[in-house]
Amino acid sequence: MITAVYPGSFDPVTLGHMDIITRASRVVDKLVIGILINKKKTPLFTTEERLDMLRHSVAQFSNVTVETFDGMTVEFAKRNGASVIIRGLRAVTDFESEMQIAQINHEIEPTVDTMFFTTSLQYAYLSSTMAKEVASYGSEVSHFVNPYVAECLRKKFAQLG
Ligand code: ADP
Repeated sequence: MITAVYPGSFDPVTLGHMDIITRASRVVDKLVIGILINKKKTPLFTTEERLDMLRHSVAQFSNVTVETFDGMTVEFAKRNGASVIIRGLRAVTDFESEMQIAQINHEIEPTVDTMFFTTSLQYAYLSSTMAKEVASYGSEVSHFVNPYVAECLRKKFAQLG
């Protein structure tokens, strides 16, 4: 029985994240998505909004759950009985920092390993930042996020004026 955690900001969840979630959920028995509460970053969406969007987005997966966490990813993994951390790689620019983080995590907790999924080509350019940028101009985001998240983006930017 392999349990994995997939940590990230998910501000908001994109189709690139969903691609990783779909593929990882086929490889592991149980996948726990962890929304990192990072006090150094100011997200567009609150933790509760990010949780709500992710829960809507993964409702069809029977082996995927969503939680929030702060602190170390390896601690979050251990709390959930997970032996694997899932991360996605978009470009070589992701590689250096991701490799460092994976090595540090493995040093701290040798029983937890990081598994990388390379992005599907159609999502290689896609980030939450880019989806927010496009949505902020009122442009169409259906290629980047699912319809529920698109509506949340529309409402958020309408609120912000
Ligand atoms: P973080 O702030 O931890 O990088 P993100 O929400 O930006 O949080 O990303 C979470 C994880 O999902 C990271 O491993 C990131 O590389 C991966 N990811 C984000 N977008 C994509 C994408 N389009 N294709 C593949 N992986 C992605």
